Amino acid sequence: MQAAFQRDLSYLLELIGSGKESLIFMKKRIRHLATQWLQASHKLEEKLEGKQRDQKQILIHIGFLTEESGDVFSPRVLKGGPLGEMVQWADILAVLFILGHSLKITVSLKELQSNLGVPPGRGNCPLTVPLPFDLIYTDYHGLQQMKQHMGLSFKKYRCRVRVIDTFGTEPAYNHEEYATLHGYRTNWGYWNLNAKQFMTMFPHTPDNSFMGFVSEELNKTEKQFIKSNKANNMAVVYGKEAGIWKGKEKFLAILNKYMEIHGTVYYETQRPPEVPAFVKNHGLLPQHEFQQLLRKAKLFIGFGFPYEGPAPLEAIANGCIFLQSRFNPPHSSLNHEFFRGKPTSREVSSQHPYAQDFIGKPHVWTVDYNNSEEFEAAIKAIMRTKVDPYLPYEYTSEGMLERIHAYIQYQDFCAVAVLPDTPAVQTSTSPFILQPNSTYLAWACNSSSSFPAWPPVNSLQVWLSEAGQACTSTCQQHGLVCEPEFFKFINHKEVFQRLNIVCDSTESEMNHLYPAVAEKVRECYLQKEPLLFSCAGYNTKYQRLCPCRDYRRGQVALCRDCL
Ligand code: UDP
Repeated sequence: MQAAFQRDLSYLLELIGSGKESLIFMKKRIRHLATQWLQASHKLEEKLEGKQRDQKQILIHIGFLTEESGDVFSPRVLKGGPLGEMVQWADILAVLFILGHSLKITVSLKELQSNLGVPPGRGNCPLTVPLPFDLIYTDYHGLQQMKQHMGLSFKKYRCRVRVIDTFGTEPAYNHEEYATLHGYRTNWGYWNLNAKQFMTMFPHTPDNSFMGFVSEELNKTEKQFIKSNKANNMAVVYGKEAGIWKGKEKFLAILNKYMEIHGTVYYETQRPPEVPAFVKNHGLLPQHEFQQLLRKAKLFIGFGFPYEGPAPLEAIANGCIFLQSRFNPPHSSLNHEFFRGKPTSREVSSQHPYAQDFIGKPHVWTVDYNNSEEFEAAIKAIMRTKVDPYLPYEYTSEGMLERIHAYIQYQDFCAVAVLPDTPAVQTSTSPFILQPNSTYLAWACNSSSSFPAWPPVNSLQVWLSEAGQACTSTCQQHGLVCEPEFFKFINHKEVFQRLNIVCDSTESEMNHLYPAVAEKVRECYLQKEPLLFSCAGYNTKYQRLCPCRDYRRGQVALCRDCL
């Protein structure tokens, strides 16, 4: 069946149900952003020019909100607990609904079971029950619940699952046997999914799909109004929980010399002791009032925590400059409590690496907070700097609708790929770049029914990394992004030859860094296990073979011909 854009959001609000603070928060958000969503849906509809879209039956099971997983979030919504996840789920619901799919939403185990068609009392029985959904969006909690209650069907249908996973899961942690053998085992990983089934909050590693969320958008008049009404000496501190302010007296004292400091820290009756008396604390604000505060403020300042949330993007979209601390050495699951046990080795180089790398100056200033002079100089410079409100396209409603539309239409992890024995890449135009030739492209197009080539392979460029470099950064260096879907095309002996790499031996092994070459000893390695193809990961011993692709400006998840 064809999907048609659905614009009556009242039906979605009904579907979401009520009772929990978290659901109330999400509904309020959807209502508040309704106009923006509708405008974006018209723009996307125009852009797609009547292209066929299939209507999917979708189950959305928000595992962390179920009583069975403890639902620690709902009671904290009104107390400054993490709202980022709630923001993202609200936006996912809006997108899936507006794109015209048929949705079922569950936030309890009972509802999950009844929707999966598991007979009462037969939860753990090894039955294969036909699954009435084309797609299931859930989180790690939900995944665990589904595994427990779906019996054998879980294995059969797990290719239909999409896991909303804020910080991401790297392939080395996802492959059960490999993770166990090589020390990548964590509480969360080892699901043996295609790593693209994990969907992140920011485009962390291209091994996963970037889901994202949206920020409130402003029209021209609003932008103008904001610019002329900015209070040049007003700062808002990033962090709604009092703990974030602990030990930050020195910075607050410096900041207080220049600016009036505002906070939105939750409190019950009294000012939290961590928040100094000179700070104007508003308490936790409803989301739209928080936006109003950002509209007035000049500076949004982070003290190192929380990591990678939505608020800095909202601040920048409302014309603030975001000042944050650089982490040297970077924080990761190897050296920092917060990331410990998360299925990724990603090195987090500041409080908000997306803001640092994808936005940067003049909107984002990343400085060394251990150096008080650098910190103070940044504040003075920021007060003199004029910026326009800015929101990257991928965080607009249109951008998110476009991206999720493409995923739903083209990502298929259930299809069994029939691959040719010969490599995709035939000709070399420079020592390190390979471009697919026209014969190959013809093959890719002709066989699209048995093997959907998405992203289209004409966006592929192969680069050899430096020793000790991950493909993520190799591709980035060339203005491209690593595309794990393309590894299968370059995991061939002949590709080494095309690159003029001399291989005395070529082995095929399970290693998340392969295909690669240990150039000093002229040993070449191919990947034996497709689930281990990984953009992330490096070792000084290897130069990796990297499949890179182009991307749309402001929409890194999609290549130029991806729509
Ligand atoms: N927020 C809010 N009231 C406040 C401060 C923040 O509603 O007083 C919202 C903000 O608009 C953002 C969300 O909380 O969308 C999550 O913010 P944050 O970046 O702090 O991420 P978290 O750590 O909560 O996941």
